[in-house]
This record gives sequence, structure tokens and C-alpha cells, in this order.
Amino acid sequence: MNTAIITNIQGFSIHDGPGIRTVVFFKGCPLSCQWCANPECLSKKPEIGFVHSLCRQCGKCLDVCPNNAIRSGEGVYRIERSRCDSCGKCAEGCDYGALVRYGDLMTVDEVWDAVRRDKMFYETSNGGVTVSGGEPLLYAQFVKELFELCHSERIGTCVETCGFVDTDTFLEVIPVTDQFLFDLKHMDSITHKKYTGQFNDQILKNASVIIKSGVDVLFRQPLIPGVNDTMTNIEATAAFLKTLGKNVLSLELMPYHRMGQDKYEALNMEYRMEKTHIMSYDELEAIKKAYIDLGINCSISR
Ligand code: SF4
Ligand code: SF4
Repeated sequence: MNTAIITNIQGFSIHDGPGIRTVVFFKGCPLSCQWCANPECLSKKPEIGFVHSLCRQCGKCLDVCPNNAIRSGEGVYRIERSRCDSCGKCAEGCDYGALVRYGDLMTVDEVWDAVRRDKMFYETSNGGVTVSGGEPLLYAQFVKELFELCHSERIGTCVETCGFVDTDTFLEVIPVTDQFLFDLKHMDSITHKKYTGQFNDQILKNASVIIKSGVDVLFRQPLIPGVNDTMTNIEATAAFLKTLGKNVLSLELMPYHRMGQDKYEALNMEYRMEKTHIMSYDELEAIKKAYIDLGINCSISR
């Protein structure tokens, strides 16, 4: 039985595919986008987050840690990360939710048991199961097995992907996937590498391959002020979509937000987008109009 590291299974989502969805978040991503709202999904390994504002300094975690990795002093508790193996015992013991373990090893059957509980909501809303992350296609065999089970009970399936995996991986999951939500972050490969850690060539190649397969694809763009909101990038994105064919003239913009920022602090990671501007309604509408003027059916995810 295939296993994967899962950070969360979230029910009742309406932003990750059609209808009401249950979203399964996989841990690990081949990109490292500076604006990522799920930093707990970047590394493939389980991790411990420490939300300092919730700590009541009860000292319980000091007693349960088998590796002596929790330190206290001057009224502050902290994790000495070089000693921590993310066993999660401190998180189980903390009564205040200050310690969080990100990442549990789960089998396909365990995830299937969790997602099928929401089946009645999928039926009434034309919804289903979405795999996200991180990059779910790092666990392609797992996704394939899970989606086969979904289809055996007529549950819809959707993959949210950054596109940066082998083309063969896409070919493996296309037959069991109803829709792909495919990110186009930046058209200039060097800028793409600067902000995500990887060039975009493989992503653009995969976009073309899955379109040719005939599967339903919705292209999306995280809209990051100062990174990909220039007219040059808007024109290049529109031109790329046009190369894919007449049926691929839609784009959903996902405006930049800071909702993941607290998790960076909890994981002791640097948040590099602190000064990034949050776009106003009018600014978002202006970008949308620019795409529409270029012949792209553009919408904004709110
Ligand atoms: S158990 Fe929780 S509340 Fe108590 S000291 Fe540790 S982190 Fe703080
Ligand atoms: S996860 Fe385990 S090793 Fe790490 S601080 Fe908590 S109890 Fe200690």
C-alpha cells in the first residue's frame, strides 16, 4: 500500500475545483516560491511549528520531549531544532495548541476513509476530492490509487499542481483526473527561477502535453505585485495560452495575501515578502481587464 506525508485534509473548500471539495495537502514541493502560503508543505519531512503567542509556559513539553530539544530561559520556550526529530510528542502534550506537528505518514486507505466521509456533499454540489500541497504529483502512485477509488464511487477528482514534475508523471495520472488546476507563475524563465527556485521550461512543456491529452485544465496565476504583474508578463502569459489552442483562453488570478506569514514564524523560516503590496480591488480589476483586452477570459479568485 502506498503511503504519503500529509499535512492536512480540509473539508468544505469552494476554491479548489468545482463544487464542494475535500482538499488533501501533500508535504514536499520541488519549487520554493517566495510567496508560498503553505510553508509547512515545502519540505518533504515532518516538522514541528511553535506558535509562541499561544505558549503559556506550563513546562509540560520539557518533560515529554525524548530528545531534550525544548529549551526554556528568560521567560521564553524554544525548540533546539538540531536535536528535534519531529516525533510530535510535545505537540500531543501541549494543552494550548502552541506546538503543531506538520506531516503524518498516511496510507491510501486512511486518506480514502477520511475523504469519502464527505461524499454526500460532493453529490449535491458536483464537487469531489482535490489533491494539493506542496506538490501532490511527488506522490503520483498514491494519487493514482486514491483517484481510482474516488472514480469507483463516482467522486470527482482534481489536481492542483505547480507543473514541475516529469512529463511521465502527468501521463500516469491524467486518466484518473477530471481537472487540473495548473499554475503559470512567470513566463520569463530566469525571473521564474529567481522567485521559485526553478526555471519554467519543464512547466511550460507539461502545460502543452496535458492540453493535448484533452483533459480539463484551468490555468491559474498567483498574482504577485512587483513580480508578475507587469504588462510584459501579462502579454507573454496571454501569448503562451494562445499557443495552446482556442479552448485554452482562460486564466484565474489568485491575488497575493499574507495568510501564511504566521506559519513562517512558527517554523523559524524567513518570510521574504513582508513589504509586498496587497492589491486593491481597482488594481486587481485593471490586471483582469488587461488580460481580457488580450483575448483571455480572466477571472479573479476571491
Ligand atoms: S507545553 Fe505548550 S504551553 Fe506548555 S510550555 Fe510547552 S509549548 Fe508552552
Ligand atoms: S517533536 Fe519530539 S523531539 Fe522535537 S521538540 Fe517535540 S518532543 Fe522534542
